[in-house]
Amino acid sequence: MTETGVRLPYKIGQGYDLHRLVTGQKLMIGGIQIESPVGCEAHSDGDVVLHALIDALLGACALGDIGDHFPPSDDQYKGMDSSAFLAKILPLVTDTGYTAGNVDVTVFLEKPKLGPYKIAIRQKLAQLLGISLNCVSVKAKTAEKFPPVGTQEAIAASVTVLLYLST
Ligand code: MG
Repeated sequence: MTETGVRLPYKIGQGYDLHRLVTGQKLMIGGIQIESPVGCEAHSDGDVVLHALIDALLGACALGDIGDHFPPSDDQYKGMDSSAFLAKILPLVTDTGYTAGNVDVTVFLEKPKLGPYKIAIRQKLAQLLGISLNCVSVKAKTAEKFPPVGTQEAIAASVTVLLYLST
C-alpha cells in the first residue's frame, strides 16, 4: 500500500504488551529464550517485546494492531514464534515507504534479571529488523514488588520505534 497524503520524513510508533507468567511455559523476550521457572501464558509464544515492537511498527504506519493482523481466535497462530509475526509485518511497513531507524525497548520484569541477556536481545532485534546494533536499545525495569509485575505474576514491555521515509 503506497501512502497517500502527507509524507512525513519520520514517523514514530509506540507499543505495549503484558502477559501473565505461569509455571511450565518458556519465557521468550525479544526472540531470546530466558532461563526462568515461569514463562508466558499466551496464544503464541508470548514474547512481549516482539508483540510491543510489532504494535509500535504498525502504529507508526497507522496499520492497526497485532490483533487485527493475527487474531488470537485463529488457531494457525497457536504457539507461533513471534519473530514469524514480525517477518510478516515488516513488508507491510516497507510498502508504506518507511524503514525502521531506531528502536528503544523497556522490559518490565521482576525476575530473572535481564542484564546477562540484554546484548543477545539487542543483537536479535537488530538482526530481525535489519538495522545496526547501536540503533537498538534494551532497558530492564523491576516494579518494586508492586503487582502484577513486581509480584512476578506478569511481564510487560514498552517499545518506541522511529521510522524514516526511505522511498
Ligand atoms: Mg502479546
